[in-house]
Amino acid sequence: MAKIVYSGPKDYVGAAQDGAGRAHEVTWVPATAQSLERALPRANAFVDASMRVTITGSLLKAATELAVISCATTGSDHIEKSVAERIPVITLRDAPELLADLTPAAELSWALVLACARQLPSALRHVREGGWVREEFPGMMLNSRRLGIIGFGRIGRWIARYGQAFGMEIVTHDPYASPPLPVVSLSLEELFETSDVISVHVPLNDETTGLVSSDLFRKVKPGAIFINTSRSAVIDESALLDVLRNGRLGAAGLDVLDGEPNVTDNPLRRYAEQHENLLITPHCGGFSPDALRKVIRHASRAAASVLNGVAT
Ligand code: NAD
Repeated sequence: MAKIVYSGPKDYVGAAQDGAGRAHEVTWVPATAQSLERALPRANAFVDASMRVTITGSLLKAATELAVISCATTGSDHIEKSVAERIPVITLRDAPELLADLTPAAELSWALVLACARQLPSALRHVREGGWVREEFPGMMLNSRRLGIIGFGRIGRWIARYGQAFGMEIVTHDPYASPPLPVVSLSLEELFETSDVISVHVPLNDETTGLVSSDLFRKVKPGAIFINTSRSAVIDESALLDVLRNGRLGAAGLDVLDGEPNVTDNPLRRYAEQHENLLITPHCGGFSPDALRKVIRHASRAAASVLNGVAT
């Protein structure tokens, strides 16, 4: 029986065993360098759903039987290059169909759109405090409004589908998406000037750092809703604060914040304490037990396939 070491949330060891099948024994190991260094010399495969420990050559010195590392994540930056050259590394990037079906981050983004459009947190608080004055909560009707999506990849495309279901007109800005795009493509400036709802879904890299600049925020359509669940560095946070303060932007929803997780002094977080038109969630978009179970089962199945000599 081949041995698979699984490191990640302990409650999901059953999903890892499910994915590996009965021919392989899955053992949970805490995500610490010390525990992994002790366990991996007895392992044939390592399923990593934690990414907390940097996997170095010296950590794997005695892991001579290790045939594959399978990550239940898209990234594998935590694995040293010398290790990846010696041991095959599989990530979720090798499973585009699975990735395309992971919708929690898109769903949270859409929840923020709806919460902003209907001032949901304030309306809920209003009733909890004994109020019943609907005139205090005029809602933006999304039907026929323009939804501008920046980054038309995995999440951006789900947002487009949700928007279409709500009767919205979809436009996008994504110079790298493979044409022909099923929606109208605009420059960033035009997208900002004309969209009623703007949602950002680009990866963070040199080009996208500061992509949503103060110039763009200054051009935003008055009263628009702005959503960012990608990465905080993609936007100019102080420019966002300016257009919230001066009332040009209707509302914003964020799942990512500069400095996270130490956000106490972040000016946007401070503003959200006192104002209803900024909603912030704690980078929980992608966090869903359903999705986690799915990716851990997949990563474990992929590791077992390598041990069985089957291409993944
Ligand atoms: P993806 O790679 O599938 O799509 C990204 C898209 O952005 C691609 O189509 C790409 O062509 C486009 N793009 C790249 N550079 C661009 C540019 N300069 N201008 C416009 N478009 C550009 O990525 P995804 O899986 O859809 O993820 C999008 C973002 O969401 C990432 O930043 C990711 O880290 C983030 N994310 C956040 C959470 C969360 O919990 N909040 C969860 C998952 C992903």
